[in-house]
Parts: sequence; C-alpha cells; structure tokens
Amino acid sequence: MKRVYLDYAATTPTHPDVVTAMLPYLNDTFGNPSSIHSFGQEAKGAIEEARETIAALIGAKNDEIVFTSGGTEADNFAIKGVAYANEHRGNHIITNSIEHHAVIEPLKFLERRGFKVTYLPVDQYGMVDPQGVRKAVSEKTILISVMHANNEIGTIEPIAEIGRIAKEMGVYFHTDAAQTIGHIPIKVNELGVDLLAISAHKLYGPKGVGALYVRKGTKVAPFMHGGEQERRRRASTENVPGIVGFGKAMQIAQNEMGTEAERLTLLRGGLIEGLLERIDDIQLNGHPRKRLPNNVNVSVQFVEGESMLLNLDMEGIAASTGSACSSSSLEPSHVLLALGLPHEQAHGSLRFTLGRETTEEEIERVLEVLPPIVAKLRSMSPLLKSRV
Ligand SMILES: *Cc1c(COP(=O)(O)O)cnc(C)c1O
Repeated sequence: MKRVYLDYAATTPTHPDVVTAMLPYLNDTFGNPSSIHSFGQEAKGAIEEARETIAALIGAKNDEIVFTSGGTEADNFAIKGVAYANEHRGNHIITNSIEHHAVIEPLKFLERRGFKVTYLPVDQYGMVDPQGVRKAVSEKTILISVMHANNEIGTIEPIAEIGRIAKEMGVYFHTDAAQTIGHIPIKVNELGVDLLAISAHKLYGPKGVGALYVRKGTKVAPFMHGGEQERRRRASTENVPGIVGFGKAMQIAQNEMGTEAERLTLLRGGLIEGLLERIDDIQLNGHPRKRLPNNVNVSVQFVEGESMLLNLDMEGIAASTGSACSSSSLEPSHVLLALGLPHEQAHGSLRFTLGRETTEEEIERVLEVLPPIVAKLRSMSPLLKSRV
C-alpha cells in the first residue's frame, strides 16, 4: 500500500538536495569551526555562508542570526533571554492562549520565578486582537510574544500590526515563526519583530537545528554559557552539517515558495470543500482565509479524533489530532478549547497538513476513505447514542 503523509506541520521529509549539501560536512569537511587550521576554517566558512543566506531571506543582518538546536530552543532563548536581561526594567510579559508549548512552558517557568504573564484570549478563528495587546501593556511590560501562524489550526496572526504597537510602546516583540518560515514570505522589518524563532525540519531541512533572529540592540542573556561561539550568545560547537542543510533548505524554499503556496492552497480548498460536503456535522477550525496554505483542521461531531487517526493509519494515511507533542495525552488541545469549542468537539478534531509530495490523488484518497470511517465510528458511538 502506498502511504499518504499529511502531517507536514509535525515535520517534513528532508529534501534530497539538502541531504546532498550536508554530506561533505559529515565526511571530509569535519573540522571544528573554532579551529584556526584549514579544516576548521572550511567548516566556519560553510556556517557563515548559511548564515548569510538565511539572514538575506528574512531581511536581517548576518550578525542578527544565532543558530540553535531547533525552534524550541530559539523560543526559550528569546523568552528567558529577554526576561533575564531586562528584569530590572519590569517583570511583565504578554502572550495569548494558543501558543506552542515551546512558548507556553518557558513562560510558566518564569511565572514560578516571579514574572507576571498575561494570556490574551483569541477570537473564534484563533486571532489575537492587536488592540487587546495595546491595552495589556503596562509600565512593567518587557516582552510581547505572539506566534506568526498557529501549528494546529493554521491561523495567521496580525504580526505587523502588533509589531507597530510594540514599537510605539517600546516593548520587545517576539514571534514563533516555525510554521511560516519557508512557507509564506517573512521580512523582519515589515513584521516589526525584535526576535523571530525558526526551525529547519518544518521546511524540508534536518531536525535538531534552528535559529533565533535577534534585532541589533535587543538585550538578551546568552542561552548557553561556555565557549565563544555565536558571539557568546550560544556556546557549544556548531552543528555544521545541520546548519548547512538549513541554509540549503531556505534557499530551495525561497525559489519554490510562491508556486508551492498556490498549489497547496488549491489542494487544501478541495480537501476542505470535499470534507464539508461528504460528512455531516463537521466544521472547519481556524480562519477561513487568513490561514497557512497547507492547513486543514476540522472537528467531526460524535467521534474521537484518536479513533479517526488510527483508522486512517490502517489505510496508510498519516494525519494528526493536534500538535504531535501532546497527541499522547488525553487532554483536548488547548488551542481548540481557546477557540471556545466544547470538549467533545475539541476531542473530535483532525488535522491534515499538506506538503511538497501531496497530490490531488492523495486528497481524493482521503475523501474516499474518511467518510466511511466516520460513519462506522458513529454507528458505535456512545456520544451519539446519548444524544438521541
Ligand atoms: C515545531 C514547532 C516548534 C518547535 O520546533 P523544534 O525545532 O521541533 O524544536 C515551535 N513552535 C512551533 C509553532 C512549531 O510548529
């Protein structure tokens, strides 16, 4: 059976050209970038080339890019880094209720250490209200953190508008762009962000590498203490093959982003339309238009998301019920609950995220396979019986 992968928001397959670009740095060019000799300098050169590529693509300067071990580290670095370096100015941070755990958990950690965090609500589509952000700012506010696009429901937040408010109020602004980098255009000055977290494995790059953009002049404490790598902001010998792969992935994304976004938007539209047409009591979660080109998230009444997922998996179709990190827990997604969905509906959610290898045939396959699965599960559903 040919398997169908529709979980690109969890991770993407590494692009073959990325693998090819990385191989020399796992073989002959193995030097430590901090070494003075030619082995080291070759590795150093490769890192700086990747840094230049990534910086140019997001409209940043080379020395504003700090490589990290991934999106999670970049978010932790931004949040704890700003908190620790600006404690003397204030202890208040503003965020919202649908952030990724990579943002929520470091904030919870800071709350246990005396920081105050405002979690702004979102509307039924998952949108943060920029005026709500403005109203929440106080004299003690040192950071605003709002994600560029949500990983579960695909809603794209009004980052540029919040960026203008943050600048006007003199507050640092961080965005988690792990879901948008390489998928929709990003220019740090247009967005008005001071810190932007990205990850390579969501755009056909390798796992275990990411970066934090830090606007010049932004006060952040170093994330790791040790050697002098990354201008002392992130000690440890650099992940040279990973960084090279990240640079290559960004280059490919830049060339293909426009056409690919258009292609995926069409496929996505077809999937949404087909599902709403063929299944009763189903609703789309997230914003109908301001959403990632590749995201489909639906709630199917009277069935469990997990049951649909397992049945789809038996047919070779890989989807998700929310974020991969929390799919082993039985708690419904905090994102869906924040939209105001009742528990049962949040439990009955399914996410399909499309990507480079997704074809029309694959979408057709889902539309053939899912409706009978839902019908079968509903015929056995205690939820449905208790309703009639
Ligand atoms: C994947 C993801 C992360 C975490 O990135 P890693 O590189 O896996 O640590 C953070 N935020 C969002 C929105 C993500 O989608």
